[in-house]
Amino acid sequence: MEKPAAVFFDLDNTLYDHRRAAREALAEVYRRHRVADTGTTVDEFARLFFDVNQRMWLKLATGEIDVTSLRGRRFAELFALVGAAPPADAAALGREYLDIYLTLSYPLPGAEETLAALEPLLPLGLLTNGFTDIQRPKIARLGWEKYFRWVAVAEEMGVFKPDVAIYEKICATAGLPPARVLYVGDSPVEDVITARKAGLRTVWVRRDGPEVARWAAEAEADYEVADVRDVVPLVGSAFK
Ligand SMILES: [Mg+2]
Repeated sequence: MEKPAAVFFDLDNTLYDHRRAAREALAEVYRRHRVADTGTTVDEFARLFFDVNQRMWLKLATGEIDVTSLRGRRFAELFALVGAAPPADAAALGREYLDIYLTLSYPLPGAEETLAALEPLLPLGLLTNGFTDIQRPKIARLGWEKYFRWVAVAEEMGVFKPDVAIYEKICATAGLPPARVLYVGDSPVEDVITARKAGLRTVWVRRDGPEVARWAAEAEADYEVADVRDVVPLVGSAFK
């Protein structure tokens, strides 16, 4: 590998087990709101949520909806899909889910050791597509600020993945040409395809899942790894 000047990481499902935290929070929403009465299983409820959520995030990137309406609307739509009584206050339900989510903390195995191993070699950055009031406390709780020179949350930047502009913006902020930045992420669309379009070099932390299967043919990363820990020898080889 050519020597990168910085490594930027995606957070959710790359360094942090967002799916696990989200799933547990959804199970609690399912229980509290007696969704079982509809005959929908908790697995189906979670699957439908991830589906609806992803569609809404894409709408966010194109400016069709805003952050505030996304939070409530994804639950209004989810409840309609499973045939549950519509929530009296969708925004409050959206908040309830996020409050439960924030009580959880699940770093992925090997994430912290990866950051600790790379940080002495070159500056690191974090670029996450989430909400400010969720991602900031999450990162603080993980205690990972010390590893990053740059922490960027999409909501604060006013631009969301998979908009190419988010990658252009982060490179401009860091004062680095995109080709010198290595970007590590799990999503074929939000991370690999979009970061490549912006000229960054990409490492795809490839996990199994419906999104990966759907986009595998189009997503062409510079490097593919099965585990985030594999990024250490990959980058390390450039510094030998
Ligand atoms: Mg991700």
